[in-house]
This record gives sequence, structure tokens and C-alpha cells, in this order.
Amino acid sequence: MGVAAHYLLETGQARKILVIDLDVHQGNGTAVMFQQEPRVFTFSMHGKDNYPLKKEQSDLDIDFPTGTEDELYLNTLYDTLPGLIQREKPDFLFYVSGVDILASDRLGKLSISREGCKERDLFVFEQAIKNGLPIVVSMGAATHPA
Ligand SMILES: [Zn+2]
Repeated sequence: MGVAAHYLLETGQARKILVIDLDVHQGNGTAVMFQQEPRVFTFSMHGKDNYPLKKEQSDLDIDFPTGTEDELYLNTLYDTLPGLIQREKPDFLFYVSGVDILASDRLGKLSISREGCKERDLFVFEQAIKNGLPIVVSMGAATHPA
């Protein structure tokens, strides 16, 4: 993802990229890679008690306590993402759609239902469509512990 984002910026195909990292693990690699890159805004929502315990600084980090359920998780996303798009005005979205937020993920530590996870993805896609933004989706971060 880092390489693709860099390529889009360098070739002028994107001027501002928003990385929406909703994998349960913080997008720590992405956060570090783009800390000095103002053309990439990194937004991560993740479990407070998940790897990595020492978090890096994304442009916007929101962490949730262990056991967080759909209502809080989704409302936080609904309250945050549209305003973020308006403010940062990205012309390209990268979406890390981790499914390890599910209650059924034993290591994930959040308790999101399958329906909630689907709503999350639909909401992100709706925002992309509504704002006419291209979106690249990947299923998980490259920084998972083995
Ligand atoms: Zn993960």
C-alpha cells in the first residue's frame, strides 16, 4: 500500500490520499511511513489492547477498549469519517478492511457482529461513492504479528 500510494502521488494521479485503516491492529507501519508526508492522511481505528501495544502516531488514532460492540464502533465511524473527508479533501482512498474486529476473532479483542462489520464496509464505500473518490481495498495490514 505504501508503494502504491507513493506512486500515485509521484505520478500526479493523486494529490491527497486518505488511508482508512479499520483493521483491529493499529496501522503502525503505515503511520510511521507517512508521518512526514503531508499528502497522506492516516486514520486508524483499532483495539487499545491489541498488538502493537506501543502505538505509533497516525494523523488520527481512535482506540477502543476490549469488548467494544457495534453501536459505539459504528457511531464513532459515522461521526468521524464524513467530516474527515470534508476537511482533508482527499482525491484517493485506501481502505484497510480488517475482519479481525469480529467477536468471533479470538485474538482480535473487539466484539463486532458480522452485520456490524458489513455495515462498516458499506458505510466506507458509500462515502467513497458520495464523494466520487476512487478506493483501493485491502483486507488487512502488512504488519500483523506472525
Ligand atoms: Zn489485524
